[in-house]
Amino acid sequence: MAIELPPLPYANDALEPFISRETILYHYERHHATYVNNLNKLLPGSAFEDSDLEHIVREAEGSIFNNGAQVWNHTFYWECLGPDCGGQPSGRLAQAIDRDFGSWDAFREAFSNAAASLFGAGWAWLVVRPDGKLLIVQESNAGNPMRNGFIPVLTCDVWEHAYYIDKRNRRPAYIDDFWKLVNWQFVEKNYLKAVS
Ligand code: MN
Repeated sequence: MAIELPPLPYANDALEPFISRETILYHYERHHATYVNNLNKLLPGSAFEDSDLEHIVREAEGSIFNNGAQVWNHTFYWECLGPDCGGQPSGRLAQAIDRDFGSWDAFREAFSNAAASLFGAGWAWLVVRPDGKLLIVQESNAGNPMRNGFIPVLTCDVWEHAYYIDKRNRRPAYIDDFWKLVNWQFVEKNYLKAVS
């Protein structure tokens, strides 16, 4: 069962001026696609040959995990972004952010700090814990919080390939622009599903 590269949910220049078409060409068409291709080379004859991607992310180790989780994480990341997005969440997610972080500003600062301070390559995540509370976690490399029993609702890719073309070494500038692109409709949907 081959794993497929899902289509980008918008045009490759749709996130400009915050994320350039050139970044998308490398990040989606090369990096994300390469993880898909690598995974499809690794799966035949392995214990995960007939597994779906989520099972691979939860259970695999080594190269199959690294490539499988990078496929899942990137597909999720693209969905977390969109044109004409940004702003703030509303409804039950906004209430939960106030409840668990004190305020929108405190949440935004804590998530930005998690993304900025992650050493090396990895991902910042907003997740739902088993008790329903929101939590910010850092994951290195291909790390995915589902392996620790959390449900992802938002992620920010802080691998250098996510921002180096547009921002060079200025990861905080990329994080500032990330907030202008967050698709809160998608994030709210993830949150509501996680707590239902
Ligand atoms: Mn990436």
